[in-house]
Amino acid sequence: MLIEENKLLAPFTTFGIGGPARWFVKAAYEQEIVEAVSWAGERGVALFVLGGGSNLLVSDAGFDGLVLHVRLRGILATNTLDESGQTEQRIYRVAAGEDWDRFVERSVLENCAGIECLAGIPGTVGGTPVQNVGAYGQEVASAIQRVRAFDLQERVFVEFSVAECEFAYRRSRFNTTDRRRYIVTRVDYRLLPGGAPTLRYADLQRAVAESVAGRRPTLAEVAAAVRRVRQAKGMLLVDGDADCRSAGSFFKNPVVSAEQMRQIAASSGKEPPRFPAGTGAENVGLVKLPAAWLIEQSGFAKGYALGDAGVSSRHTLALVNRGGATAAEVMALAARIGDAVEARFGLRLEMEPVLVGF
Ligand SMILES: Cc1cc2nc3c(=O)[nH]c(=O)nc-3n(C[C@H](O)[C@H](O)[C@H](O)COP(=O)(O)OP(=O)(O)OC[C@H]3O[C@@H](n4cnc5c(N)ncnc54)[C@H](O)[C@@H]3O)c2cc1C
Repeated sequence: MLIEENKLLAPFTTFGIGGPARWFVKAAYEQEIVEAVSWAGERGVALFVLGGGSNLLVSDAGFDGLVLHVRLRGILATNTLDESGQTEQRIYRVAAGEDWDRFVERSVLENCAGIECLAGIPGTVGGTPVQNVGAYGQEVASAIQRVRAFDLQERVFVEFSVAECEFAYRRSRFNTTDRRRYIVTRVDYRLLPGGAPTLRYADLQRAVAESVAGRRPTLAEVAAAVRRVRQAKGMLLVDGDADCRSAGSFFKNPVVSAEQMRQIAASSGKEPPRFPAGTGAENVGLVKLPAAWLIEQSGFAKGYALGDAGVSSRHTLALVNRGGATAAEVMALAARIGDAVEARFGLRLEMEPVLVGF
């Protein structure tokens, strides 16, 4: 185990922002995680778990503790029958440090349905259960079978069924009740060989229709269409594309009641766009409101800039590093946007990226 000192974190984040980690270690095996945790515990040093750095804003001062970079690799795939004994399923046991998008690509090539709409999302597989990654009508909650993790409190490895992960919109036990308690080491995905692609969102349906002319699209065609739609919004990491120096969506889409929706419509004089809040019983009577629309209605256009921080020129929901932005500049822009939306609509936007070292 090699512990490095004063390692700059900016290059490990998609924002390209952040000061140094006081200590930094890579873990390629579960045993190295155990050793790194003991090392930090013995010295009373704070620990931060780093995946692909695609959902982080690291402070300019960095992190005064040990950053543990999860690098566990390996994918084991097996075919089995589901509980009913009727339907074939393919289980992928994926180590936490595997690249998420590469795993999606493999599942699509192997014609297994369940995560095709999540193509093009950066980060690691271990990061996906943390905020229940979702896009274009799919969430990892509906494809995860099991999560294996190291419990920092009890110092043992544990496994959670999907129900035990307590998934909801951009939430799980790993970013709420048990925040920073577990290090995910493996995620088991249960996918459907030969299954039909999910096509719920209108802009995705349009993008797919352009290329398949009336016939049922393949999983690969849907995944390719997702990547095209993402790229058009600057939500795909493409070398040299300034709009993707971000952490993706900076704010969560607020979930509101029908009454709140009526008030927002009345105060804006417009009918706001909306999406279903989700299929669970807890979402009955609720709708999801695009934060991008609220931000635009509050006076922020694409390309708005505050110093070197800005709103993406292709998607109002992403804040970007225009080159040389500090974390303080991004936070100042986020506060300006959050205050304006609150003053206009009485809604406090919640930030999506995880703050490190603030
Ligand atoms: C261009 C772009 C587009 C994006 N689009 C989407 C999208 O459509 N939908 C969406 O949901 N997200 C999206 N994101 C956000 C991000 O890609 C996901 O949240 C991703 O899953 C984060 O994974 P990561 O490995 O990069 O985690 P990191 O950013 O490294 O960490 C994020 C959080 O997860 C924790 N974490 C990471 N790995 C582990 C682990 N192994 N064990 C325990 N905790 C861990 C960290 O401690 C931190 O709290 C986007 C980001 C970008 C830059």
